[in-house]
Amino acid sequence: MLASFLLPDVPGLRLDALLTDDQTIHLTMTSTQSTAACPLCAEASGRIHSRYQRTVRDLPWASHSVQIRLHVRRFFCSNPSCERKIFIERLGATIRAFKRRTERLASQLCQLAFRLSAEAGACLSEQLGMPVSAATLLRLQRHHPLPPPPAPQIIGVDDWSIRKGRTYGALIVDLERKKPSDVLPDAKAETFIAWLQAHPTIIGISRDRAGNFAEGALRGAPQAIQVADRFHLFGNLGDALQRLLERHPAALRAAAQQDEEHTGVEIEAPAVTPPVVEATMETSTPPVESAPLTQREQRFREVLSRHADGWNYSQIAREQKLNIRTVKRYILGGELPKRGAPLLRLTSSVTPYLAYLERRWQEGCQNKTRLMDPGRPRPRWHAPNGVLCQLARGCGC
Ligand SMILES: [Zn+2]
Repeated sequence: MLASFLLPDVPGLRLDALLTDDQTIHLTMTSTQSTAACPLCAEASGRIHSRYQRTVRDLPWASHSVQIRLHVRRFFCSNPSCERKIFIERLGATIRAFKRRTERLASQLCQLAFRLSAEAGACLSEQLGMPVSAATLLRLQRHHPLPPPPAPQIIGVDDWSIRKGRTYGALIVDLERKKPSDVLPDAKAETFIAWLQAHPTIIGISRDRAGNFAEGALRGAPQAIQVADRFHLFGNLGDALQRLLERHPAALRAAAQQDEEHTGVEIEAPAVTPPVVEATMETSTPPVESAPLTQREQRFREVLSRHADGWNYSQIAREQKLNIRTVKRYILGGELPKRGAPLLRLTSSVTPYLAYLERRWQEGCQNKTRLMDPGRPRPRWHAPNGVLCQLARGCGC
């Protein structure tokens, strides 16, 4: 009875000797099982190949380390079709093959490391009779199996491109724990249905408006509440707003002009120096030829012309080899949009002071420090608004 507590619980393991010194208890044990099962084909074999010794550590006895010298054997596999010809005998789950600690000792060390950290665990382990280094404790922690994650209840699903435009997978995220839950090999409804049926705990699904996920959620988890996620709602809203604004560039310009007028600051156009015309003896000036149209301008005019002739968007797009959205933008906008030009000219924080800066620049004050802070030692920044308050009073430079 006592031996069953003190010694590893392995059937057929015989205790041969017990020796002690000041620090360690040395046990010598021998495996006496008549046969051993091949780890590959599981067929029992009694044909011994050779014998050898291995050493494992076990739980301490009264704070004394326990070291077991095991006499074990190698066996021939008796299954001729098995790839493994020779194997070492297994001693059950208590003393696993190739391990240098019994499972119960490794478990205790793991608990020590999890509760105290590796360094503190290593210090205490020596006093407890199972000395181990901090690095070993870390290694034991890394190999310790993680507890199974709790079943997800509220998930988010979206597709991700394995090959953009061609192959898509699906990513499922546990929204309560904000962690990825699973990756599906494709974004088809059937795959999503199978996943949902294997996870009957789902009560909420956040998804985009794709039909495959909608169908999958409806058929795979009819009990779940489906919601459109905020990311896609705002994304769709932004796209729709941009498409709407692109149809009305003239209105955008008018709104921007009104905004400038509302600020009460007239933005002066840069002074244009009239070109110096040298006097010549010729009395007549040849007519100025207009610049030739670019290919883009020619195409834009073609689009408007076809539209005036009654062509629809698709016909024009095919004929001009343009995207149908570009054709729509040309026709609805009524003018050729500038490349790379923003739809709205945003007003910067400097805009209210442009007139003053322009005037001072022309007067010769081109020092940015003086322009920013003209009246020392007066306060540089106006506290309430954090703007260049001194500029409104005039520059002192
Ligand atoms: Zn075998």
